[in-house]
Amino acid sequence: MSITSGTDNLVARSLASVWHPCTQMQHHEAVPLVPVSHGRGAWLYDTDGRRYLDAISSWWVNLFGHANPRINAALKDQLDRLEHAMLAGFTHEPVVQLSETLAAMTGNVLGHCFYASDGASAVEIALKMSVHAWRNAGHAGKCEFVCLAGSYHGETLGALAVTDVPLFRAAYGALLQNVHVVASPDARGAAPGESAADVARRAAAALETLLQQRGAQIAAVIIEPLVQCAAGMAMHDPVYLASVRALCDRYGVHMIADEIAVGCGRTGTFFACEQAAVWPDFLCLSKGISGGYLPLSLVLTRPEIYAAFYDRDVARGFLHSHSYTGNPLACRAALATLQIFREDDVLARNRHTATRLAAALAPLAGDGRVVNVRQRGMIWAFDAVVDDAADAATFSRRFFTAALSHELLLRPIGRTVYLMPPYILDDTQVEFLAGATQRVFAQVMGPA
Ligand SMILES: *Cc1c(COP(=O)(O)O)cnc(C)c1O
Repeated sequence: MSITSGTDNLVARSLASVWHPCTQMQHHEAVPLVPVSHGRGAWLYDTDGRRYLDAISSWWVNLFGHANPRINAALKDQLDRLEHAMLAGFTHEPVVQLSETLAAMTGNVLGHCFYASDGASAVEIALKMSVHAWRNAGHAGKCEFVCLAGSYHGETLGALAVTDVPLFRAAYGALLQNVHVVASPDARGAAPGESAADVARRAAAALETLLQQRGAQIAAVIIEPLVQCAAGMAMHDPVYLASVRALCDRYGVHMIADEIAVGCGRTGTFFACEQAAVWPDFLCLSKGISGGYLPLSLVLTRPEIYAAFYDRDVARGFLHSHSYTGNPLACRAALATLQIFREDDVLARNRHTATRLAAALAPLAGDGRVVNVRQRGMIWAFDAVVDDAADAATFSRRFFTAALSHELLLRPIGRTVYLMPPYILDDTQVEFLAGATQRVFAQVMGPA
């Protein structure tokens, strides 16, 4: 196999043979496909030697840069020991260490860890575990779910059922379980004079009304704590999390925190739920947990849930499995990632980076075509005012293409431009990112 073939060749071969994700393939007649040759730190390099600052962490997964020396070293060491072994009937050091470490990070409230490979599977596991736990406890009638307006929890059928993104659901409606969709606490929904906390309390009240009516049939409420990322970085006040926890306790419903995007320090604390000082019954992690290296996801849960499955009867066990459950390489990447968090005091460093980034981007907020500037930890976003419907439909693609010409990987969601960079940016890179983002905006929008 040659890995030196030129750009055009690789792009043409890819378009002929690879069906790319989340893509209308015909758009690639106009939108470039970038052939990546290698990555180093925050930069990706294409086969022609052009570079792109990875301002969205390669779809929100990369935390400490590409080709991170410490994660690379851990993986090389693991590769010579054990690449994989089945996790049914067998165990190994990386999966045990990772489970112990994560449990300790929740103060052992969430002391049991179940593994899969991608985020959607972690969501499926949490949904199934919730229903099965209720069933084992004698409540077989509790099998309905609640999700938020604008929620995104993945695209397998169970996860898609609790995903409220019409574009992703439209073709598959007939395959999806009916779920309850309740108001989002999105702070952008504030009426004049209302605070973000007011919006959160209003949304919690709507949830309570539903739980009063259907609590006996509802197994779980699933939420993305603090930021509904795929909805367009919709942010809410932490008081919402405390309210959901209290309501779930009051009405006997499980709380599932999907921290696949917001976990791993992204919002300023390692787990987003920490900002409301609550723990869910199920906490899903994926994306950043392996540092963006390998597919890994997991669901942390409480001893009480675990105990509901612990029995002589095989059918009361949680019989879910994936071939690569607890893959040692992926677990080692996760352990190396967590070690970097400890050794580098990453959360403190991120506070510095986030402040500098906000300051460097402040001039954008003065542009009349920029609204809803918002930030939570290492996520920064705004909505572009695009009046013309045709312009709006193509805004994201035009922005992506313009960004490439300014050495940036940016991929707006609709009209929401967001930055979700790796945590390793130095001050120079922060300035570059902020400056280039503004140059791209000016190019796409034209003169103010
Ligand atoms: C990305 C994402 C998922 C799905 O993860 P995949 O690995 O893409 O299946 C689920 N929930 C949230 C909040 C996500 O951002």
